Amino acid sequence: MTKKRNGLPRLPHLLGIEGLAPDTVSGLLDLSESYIGQNRSLDKRRDLLTGRTVINLFFENSTRTRTSFEVAAKRLGADVINMEVASSSVRKGETLLDTAMTLNAMLPDTLVVRHHESGAVNLLAQKMKCAVINAGDGQHEHPTQALLDALTIRRRRGKLEGLLVAICGDILHSRVARSNIHLLNIMGARVRVVGPPTLMPTDVDRMGVEVHFNMRTGLKDVDIVMMLRLQTERMQGTYVPSISEYFRFFGLDQEKLKVAKPDALIMHPGPMNRGVEIDSEVADDLDRSVIHEQVEMGVAVRMACLEALIGTRRNAPPDLTTGALL
Ligand code: ASP
Repeated sequence: MTKKRNGLPRLPHLLGIEGLAPDTVSGLLDLSESYIGQNRSLDKRRDLLTGRTVINLFFENSTRTRTSFEVAAKRLGADVINMEVASSSVRKGETLLDTAMTLNAMLPDTLVVRHHESGAVNLLAQKMKCAVINAGDGQHEHPTQALLDALTIRRRRGKLEGLLVAICGDILHSRVARSNIHLLNIMGARVRVVGPPTLMPTDVDRMGVEVHFNMRTGLKDVDIVMMLRLQTERMQGTYVPSISEYFRFFGLDQEKLKVAKPDALIMHPGPMNRGVEIDSEVADDLDRSVIHEQVEMGVAVRMACLEALIGTRRNAPPDLTTGALL
């Protein structure tokens, strides 16, 4: 396999963390690390992707992820197009595959996609002639989130291996949890998931994690506490008795945090719901909360992913006479 900068193997797409080799994860983190200094300097732009086109196609709302992919691509010199799904033909009933055909004809170099259905990004990737990055598909995976979380932890703790990480809250509906579980397992960390039984996936026993139904045992001696939002947009029916009850048992506050290691880091992928899964005092605790650092690392990670993927697929135009996707 051809190697790129930092010994990274060439990746055709980045659809998930599951199945990545530890060297690929470390390589992506090392490459991300190399962008942090550039991002902190006055001159943030490099010409690595000049002439390349990155399309952001978001079928679900996003603040951090879409903006940070745009910032990342622009800092590397690429042209970025944000496709507004709300005003596009997708709303007029165009199928995902017709959308793929249309986008192929514009010869982009990378397509960044978020979709509400698990698996939709994989389907699109099979039909696209350029590299595809999964920016979150349903409750399946959100690979760049897990990479940015890992980069944040690795910079603070110097390693991932051997750390004890608690992922807390709505595990069932969370693609962030799933990608983080894969990544932390690949890199030799120990993972606990903590939440009410109603918000645990049925296959949790096969995920290589310790399962806890209360914060007292779940947070005991952990190095990292990762809080998750209640993904109400994916819920049909009632999963928690009430928000105040949920906060009382599973919301992170100083009291519950006492059993974690004294220097345990607090993380959240955002958007945060203060007073639901996390108390403001904890979220804003400058000594322990790395929530803003996660956002900063997100740009570096997305620059690394764009660099790792760009130019890995050839851009042959689709055969418009037969409509076939070559
Ligand atoms: N922003 C993350 C995601 O897209 C987490 C969340 O929405 O709660 O999955």
